[in-house]
Amino acid sequence: MLNIIIFGPPGAGKGTQSEYIKERYNLTYISTGQVLRAEIAAGSEIGLKVKDIIDHGGLASDEIVAEIIEKFIVNHSDSNGFLFDGFPRTVKQAEILDNLFKKYNLNLSGVLSLEVPEDILVERMLERGKTSGRADDNIDSIRHRFVEYDQKTKPVLDFYQNKNVLHPIHGVGTIEEIFDNICEVIERL
Ligand code: UDP
Ligand code: MG
Repeated sequence: MLNIIIFGPPGAGKGTQSEYIKERYNLTYISTGQVLRAEIAAGSEIGLKVKDIIDHGGLASDEIVAEIIEKFIVNHSDSNGFLFDGFPRTVKQAEILDNLFKKYNLNLSGVLSLEVPEDILVERMLERGKTSGRADDNIDSIRHRFVEYDQKTKPVLDFYQNKNVLHPIHGVGTIEEIFDNICEVIERL
């Protein structure tokens, strides 16, 4: 069973590459960002709680995303492998995921960490903002997303480095080139 986390700063291409990865390896995919945006669009209780935070580039609470992830795992207990996109985003969330894996008898195959320089990330997100309709693809929210990433998410890299499951991926190039880099790593897992 292949259980993969795709990791990287905002705009690194996690969502884009996930589309290819889940197809090739037949994985059950969840993007917590997508789920949260859907909750906001639906005006649910969770959506109302997180809307302002997310629009301004902040992070939803560990409790909220942990609940989303556990429900997802439980609802897909027949899965032959998971692909997590955009989660965990804090060390606390990484610990929670660790416990969920123990609880549901899963093991983490690897963390694919997309590496892209910040100027390219900003460029990509501003470009995406023209058509994505995402309230957080504007320069002020993007700046705040980087601050959150640096302070809260980056430490997750050390967490997985210490477990020897971290795999850096060169994240600059065409979509196909980056996907090749990813597949090379997955084949070795
Ligand atoms: N977000 C969050 N927790 C998550 C996933 C997403 O708080 O586990 C919020 C956060 O505000 C983030 C936004 O949703 O900036 C968009 O996340 P997504 O992963 O979709 O965007 P990306 O970082 O890939 O551009
Ligand atoms: Mg994304």
